[in-house]
Amino acid sequence: MVDLDTRLGPVVGKASADKLSKTFGMETVGDLLTHYPRRYVDLEQIDSFADLEVGQYVTFVAEVVDVKNIPFGPGGRKTRTQVRITDGRQHLNATFFNQRWIAKRTEAGSRQLFAGVVGEYRGQPQLTHPVMREISGDIASFQRGIIPLYPATSSIASWELERTIDTVLAVLDPPPDPLPSDLVAAKGWPDYATALQWIHQPQSASQWRQAQQRLRFDEAFVLQTIFARRRRAFDIETAIARPWQAGGLAERFIERLPFELTAGQREVQAEIRDDLARPHPMHRLLQGEVGSGKTVLSLIAMLQVVDAGAQAALLAPTEVLATQHFHSITEQLGDLAKGGMLGGAEGATRVRLLTGSMGAKARKETMLDIVSGEAGIVIGTHALLQEGVDFAELGLLVVDEQHRFGVEQRAALVDRSAVTPHVLVMTATPIPRTVAMTVFGDLETSTLRELPRGRQPIQTTVIALAEHPTWLDRAWTRIREEVEKGRQAYVVTTRIGDGEGDTEPDPSADEPRTASLVEVFEALTEGPLSGLRLAMLHGRMPTDEKDTQMTAFAAGEVDVLVATTVIEVGVNVPNATVMVVLDADRFGLSQLHQLRGRIGRGEHAGLCLLVTGAQGDTLARERLDAVASTTDGFQIAQHDIDLRREGDVLGARQSGGRSSLKLLSVVKHEKDIAEARDHADRVVAQDPELAELPALRRAVEELETTQQADYLERT
Ligand code: ADP
Ligand code: MG
Repeated sequence: MVDLDTRLGPVVGKASADKLSKTFGMETVGDLLTHYPRRYVDLEQIDSFADLEVGQYVTFVAEVVDVKNIPFGPGGRKTRTQVRITDGRQHLNATFFNQRWIAKRTEAGSRQLFAGVVGEYRGQPQLTHPVMREISGDIASFQRGIIPLYPATSSIASWELERTIDTVLAVLDPPPDPLPSDLVAAKGWPDYATALQWIHQPQSASQWRQAQQRLRFDEAFVLQTIFARRRRAFDIETAIARPWQAGGLAERFIERLPFELTAGQREVQAEIRDDLARPHPMHRLLQGEVGSGKTVLSLIAMLQVVDAGAQAALLAPTEVLATQHFHSITEQLGDLAKGGMLGGAEGATRVRLLTGSMGAKARKETMLDIVSGEAGIVIGTHALLQEGVDFAELGLLVVDEQHRFGVEQRAALVDRSAVTPHVLVMTATPIPRTVAMTVFGDLETSTLRELPRGRQPIQTTVIALAEHPTWLDRAWTRIREEVEKGRQAYVVTTRIGDGEGDTEPDPSADEPRTASLVEVFEALTEGPLSGLRLAMLHGRMPTDEKDTQMTAFAAGEVDVLVATTVIEVGVNVPNATVMVVLDADRFGLSQLHQLRGRIGRGEHAGLCLLVTGAQGDTLARERLDAVASTTDGFQIAQHDIDLRREGDVLGARQSGGRSSLKLLSVVKHEKDIAEARDHADRVVAQDPELAELPALRRAVEELETTQQADYLERT
């Protein structure tokens, strides 16, 4: 009996199985059968050379005339493989860059199927990186008239995959359906076994379309079932209620804030307050623009928990941030944080910092305060997650900038606590609805949409050096002007360039060299910004040095901070008004938006200059213009997603290797996701253990165990 869990070896032979395992990481029949065709070619609808139009997607059968590898680039280290093809009358080139293996695999005189978009080179139409598939032998798909094209690699051609899949489908026992049969029937979809056959061996275009649609829904459904079960588990999980205490630290803290909470903040604060007062763990995602006032809300929540007799932990992604949170929270709390100290307020607590680079003595003291419960609020980095950090009673875990933490890490701390803590996750990366449903499907969401009043607008300007090479000087002049007015500035680079770790650009690359932090720092110190007080900040500096620089900048002892993206999240220096981002085209849009959130945080207007050296890259320019044209982070996030590939949305690893989202796009398939969520809720409510749907249970378990990290970790 061959089912989806059967190992490939016995079914397709050891040699093939080894190759599939090595190339795609496939081990089971299920792995192979969920490697779906990327495209289909209908042999009845083959284009001809005569009507090639630039920009059009075409498929045709042609004969290979000859194949050449042509070296190019500095030192001839790159290769262009040119495959000349003919339809018997005309000739055309198919071109591949840096895929020498194509030449080896493509014989002159062979007949091949080509599919790709028509481009143009020196006025001549050509195909760049078309899908190519040799047409030879007796392959069933020729009789069916529709040829599936699989994402192939140098070691396995599309037709080989097709043949292997044919072999497997021939012996497969029809696998059970993960979807409830009433849903399949209501939708008029093929059942699962049929869908697998139709997606690999369609007899008509309508078959593969229906199969795709249904299997795409399956992906959304399995994922949403996981979330539905998790939400249900949260519902029955118990936690200790930490209700609001009248006259407590939280209340006194709000009273003495130098500003009024905005209406939006008050609303979210009430949500959190009520969540914490319930005997079930809170799992809430708080999203809002940089500077929208999330941190202050998390502090109020932490104080509420302290008032109720427990501790709160604030997990920050970097030491710089943890340290900064520590200083600013200690300062804001004033005598409320001087528990057991002279001048401490009544009922005052203590705030402690725990980071990986702390000395043994300081660490020990902090640990004591954590274990004894003296420390009501503990702020830290990953160090907080380590074994041995045992809270007397952790009541609330606040995770700042979730995307830097894995769900597993969050779980680590939650699991180790004697009582289940409430969890509040904060992110300044606005997350469009579908992504929130896909990536954070187990969290309730609160959103801060307005910025506190009095916040100054940030003006963003793109400096395209290709068009205006001298404008960079103006950027430096602007910095000097601001510094003369007593303000401060950031200069941001993409890489450090200290000769370690980070990849030096390939000298043969066609791409322009990016500016390195070290070089920029030196050039500015000696050149356009000489006489100003400059400092460097990057992630590989020793922590105490980072702290020193950051503290000096915050104290106004440094005019210009030249830094990598370590300043991206959370850093708060209201006096900083200008930011110059070099090689801005190399950053993600949301990242740029976050970066510029570092300025304009005080009473002075902010200016952000996005410098790009990209030549004639209209997409790069469009992206930067998008950031410059709006300050609405949600709009930017949506734009970012629209322009990015799927893999980047769900985390880097999602794009390569085996991924679980084959057909579903969180960008394009909002409807599927929303619908799957409803159905999953219904199914889980009736049958939480999925006893009636063993195939669904299997899919859920597989995803949870093998691929949870890929899915849920947004790195
Ligand atoms: P976030 O964490 O969302 O980036 P913060 O909580 O750090 O934002 O707030 C940014 C700055 O705005 C801080 O200096 C904070 O004290 C201040 N702030 C927060 N809420 C308000 C408000 N309602 N009115 C004025 N200033 C506020
Ligand atoms: Mg913050």
